[in-house]
Amino acid sequence: MVLNNENLVENLIKDGYLKTALIINAFKAVDRKDFVRDEDKEHAYVNYPLAIGFGQTISQPLTVAFMLELLSPKLGEKILDIGAGSGWQTALLAQIVGEQGKVIAIERIPELKIFAEKNIGKYGFIEKGIVKIIEGDGSKSYELDAPFDKIIAAATSKEIPDAWKKQLKIGGFIVAPVNQSIYVLGKTGPEEFSKKQYFGFSFVPLVTD
Ligand code: SAH
Repeated sequence: MVLNNENLVENLIKDGYLKTALIINAFKAVDRKDFVRDEDKEHAYVNYPLAIGFGQTISQPLTVAFMLELLSPKLGEKILDIGAGSGWQTALLAQIVGEQGKVIAIERIPELKIFAEKNIGKYGFIEKGIVKIIEGDGSKSYELDAPFDKIIAAATSKEIPDAWKKQLKIGGFIVAPVNQSIYVLGKTGPEEFSKKQYFGFSFVPLVTD
């Protein structure tokens, strides 16, 4: 039985999902319980996605750990996070990039945008100017904040939207689901990308307007 956030993090390390100190420390500092609904608090530390309403879920811990290790976020980076949902992954990213960094999260469901803001609010990341949550369709461009060092998405589509490729700095990475795989695209030139694929995950769909 996983009783607290520390146990959850220890299991993710033991099972090989969490490896990097900066990411491990963020998982310790940001408690998953703060991002689930009141009726789910006792299940906050199990390795499952949990419903957050509107047919959406807070992602499974091992998937978030695996994707963040692939993304390899660093102190001071500017990151685009598509599908804020509960705000858990957004808060983890904010903890990692710190006060010199920035996380722009996009969420298309207005009620979830508010839920994410409320949850992230417990950590002061919005007041400090590290996190900004935008309501809208994240498959489109948000030129004001681009380009980004890294882009991560929590909702799956048939292909990586062109808007993400355009908004990425050269040398940057996109970690996003395509169907039920995780893709890692590395931007090697203005129009050139390397690609790696990891099979066997499960995601909610990216809904485009
Ligand atoms: N990392 C989040 C994942 C939430 S599930 C968490 O752990 O809580 C994915 C989220 O993506 C859902 O909230 C869904 O509403 C949102 N989403 C789906 N399509 C989107 C789009 N085109 N633009 C922005 N958000 C989208």
